This record gives sequence, structure tokens and C-alpha cells, in this order.
Amino acid sequence: KKITIAIDGHSSTGKSTAAKELAKALNYIYVDTGAMYRAMTYFALKNGFFENDVLNETRLIQSLDDVDLSFEYDQSKEKSIILLNGENVENFIRQMDVANKVSYVAKIPEVRHKLVKIQQKIGEKGGLVMDGRDIGSVVFPEAELKIFMTATANERAKRRFNELKGSSSDLNFDEVLANVQERDLIDSSRETSPLIQTDDAVKLDNTNLTKEEQADVLLKLAMK
Ligand code: C5P
Repeated sequence: KKITIAIDGHSSTGKSTAAKELAKALNYIYVDTGAMYRAMTYFALKNGFFENDVLNETRLIQSLDDVDLSFEYDQSKEKSIILLNGENVENFIRQMDVANKVSYVAKIPEVRHKLVKIQQKIGEKGGLVMDGRDIGSVVFPEAELKIFMTATANERAKRRFNELKGSSSDLNFDEVLANVQERDLIDSSRETSPLIQTDDAVKLDNTNLTKEEQADVLLKLAMK
């Protein structure tokens, strides 16, 4: 039977890499919900909804009907690409300007409502691994397997820093660490769908695990 696997946890815990690999091993679909919140943030930035760095929530909420988010599978890269109104925005949504603002967009109830509905539609038939912050708690509370991933903030910032180093020259480790910590704080303390570990989730602290060890643990849990 094809099940639903929810992977939630803190920022930069390697959720997406782990989820992608697990989906591949099981021949399931992989859905990166963070990419959806990031694309929404990119949309808000591009349309000037951040005024002096502060989000004008009303303008974003009023424009929600103009936002179409979908995924397209890229055969050559073996991964799904996020499309914002048909445009591939994958390269923009990983930048620091989006990372610094995304939690402010993600805490708006109307935004969450719209994205959760899309996610539930994509996953209605099961056979998927979805990663995010509220998958086990809100999007698929009935998921057969729920994982809560975490690692120390320092370790996570180190990984994110190494990942971003190549693409931006003026990157600073302290800025990356501050961003990781700030996002965790906002994600965990927001009113709508805060990041929480549900009682039925398996906690996986990967501070001292290699990717291979982690993949092994996950596959065993999924095959149980
Ligand atoms: O997973 P990723 O780091 O790409 O997610 C970016 C941000 O999107 C998170 O920090 C969080 O604010 C938001 N998010 C969320 N709910 C999800 C996925 C992501 O609030 N299901």
C-alpha cells in the first residue's frame, strides 16, 4: 500500500534532501512545501509588497488569487521545479533575500490556507513524501509515517553556509546562523500552524548522522 509520509522540522535540517531520496527509493512523489512559501515570498518581493522591509499583508492577501503555484518534473535534474504563474523561479527562491522574509509570509493565515489546499490536492492519492513545518500537524494529520527532523542550530547553519557559498560571494556565516535561528523562532511561535512535533512523530536528530545513515533509518521506518 502506498502511504503518506510527512517530514517536518527545523530549518536547514536536510529535510528536503532526505525526503527526495526517500521518495526516490520508494518510487513516491516528493513535494517541497517550503518552495511554495518561498515562491509566494518571491512574488511579494517582486511586486513591492515589502515597504521599507515590512510586509504589507493586506496587499499580499488581496493578490492571492493572482498567484498560481505548481510543480513540474525536470527529467534531466531528476527533481521537481516550482512554477510561479508558469515561470520557473527555482533560482530566485533559494537566495537570502527570500530566506530573510519567508517566515513573515508564512505566518499569514490566508497564505497558509491557500497553500495547504494545494498540498492536500497533490497528495490526495497517497504515495508521497512531503516536507515542511505543518505536514504532520495540519496538511496530513492522518499520515501513516511522521518524522520530526532536527539538529543543532550551529550544525544546520554550517550546512546551509556550505550550500550557499558557491552562489553568493558576500555570504557571512553569522548572517546564515542568525537567519536559521530567526526562522525557527518565528515558525515555532506563530499563531497559525506553529512548527510543533506531534505526539505520533518519530524524532530524528541528525547532528551526528551521515546522509547515508539517515537515509537508512528513514527507509526502515517507511518499510515497517
Ligand atoms: O523548508 P524551507 O526552509 O525551504 O521553508 C522556508 C520557510 O517556509 C520556513 O522557514 C517556514 O517559515 C515556511 N514554511 C512553512 N510551512 C511549511 C513549509 C515552509 O511555514 N509547510
